[in-house]
Amino acid sequence: MKITDIKIHLMRAPLARPFRISLGVITHAVSCLVEVETDEGITGYGEGAPGPLITGENLEGTVATIRVLKEKLVGMDPRDMEAVYTVMNRVVAYAGTAKAAIDIACHDIMGKSAGLPLYRLLGGLSNELETDITVGIDAPEVMAEQAKAHVQAGFRVIKTKVGTDIVSDLARVRAIREAVGDGVKIRLDANQGWKRKEAVEFLNRLNEYDIELVEQPVARYDLEGLKYVTAHSLVPVMADESCWDAKDALKLVSERAADLINIKLMKCGGIYEAKKIIHIAEAAGVECMLGCMVEESGIAVNASAALGAAMKNVTRADLDACFFLSDVPFEGGFEVRDTRRLILSEDSGLGIRHLKGDMLS
Ligand code: MG
Repeated sequence: MKITDIKIHLMRAPLARPFRISLGVITHAVSCLVEVETDEGITGYGEGAPGPLITGENLEGTVATIRVLKEKLVGMDPRDMEAVYTVMNRVVAYAGTAKAAIDIACHDIMGKSAGLPLYRLLGGLSNELETDITVGIDAPEVMAEQAKAHVQAGFRVIKTKVGTDIVSDLARVRAIREAVGDGVKIRLDANQGWKRKEAVEFLNRLNEYDIELVEQPVARYDLEGLKYVTAHSLVPVMADESCWDAKDALKLVSERAADLINIKLMKCGGIYEAKKIIHIAEAAGVECMLGCMVEESGIAVNASAALGAAMKNVTRADLDACFFLSDVPFEGGFEVRDTRRLILSEDSGLGIRHLKGDMLS
């Protein structure tokens, strides 16, 4: 089997409401969808959604990188991931988003070629997972109201964005816990918003609100700071922006700098690299979560869900991007049950049947 073409489609869709995190505001899902075509008539679907606030990438750059990669990948067998990845890394450094688009499409082809749904190809532990839902930064009463509505709709885990200042953050967490009551998990994401000592002070004051974990309390490059918070906080600490790829994961776990790791296909460059992170973390007794970019359309969320369901060391999921869109630009993929459960397709590959042209350019 050989790759014959890589087609690129662009999506720009407004989010149900602007989404604020400590780094800025996101108003649209902006993404690059790819179709990797082969000489055997199998087409693989993939997606690269640049999150400028997190990865520093943008749509124009992602499209340009995919075009450069295409020049080298046409003629290769998309199922030879080790070879595909070696070529991609030789052509361009970093660029996780562009690589993820191709990686996801190649995995879709592998599944289709083997006649297996992707979750079975990747390990097959389970065919479903439960996602949380995220509440963006806002006034405490607004966030509490949104959290309550999500719980009433069926979600059991609320991820709350924080990281502005400790007084406001404390009011946010208190209001949300009071609104949702006991029995609902609350996880926090500070998106690098705090300094190490204030983070520890704050997290220890939060203990009474029964917080499951906090993502990325300090700046992504401050590994010493992350280690300090992990050592002194009663709330478990998850590395997100501090963990890009397998090399970061190895450093984090060997220095015990985080209790947990959040993996995103757009950061690490796809399933190929994500599996390495999961294995490294598992060997160190560190559990992983699969996350997504708010900018994603749902194709990459399907790939992340398949990986997360398939592998034992993925114990949490933050795969809520498609809930912020009024429609998704494809047919097929997972089915949502009880609001929070993503039930993976039994069709081969990702189970995505076709793209919807009216949402794409
Ligand atoms: Mg995060």
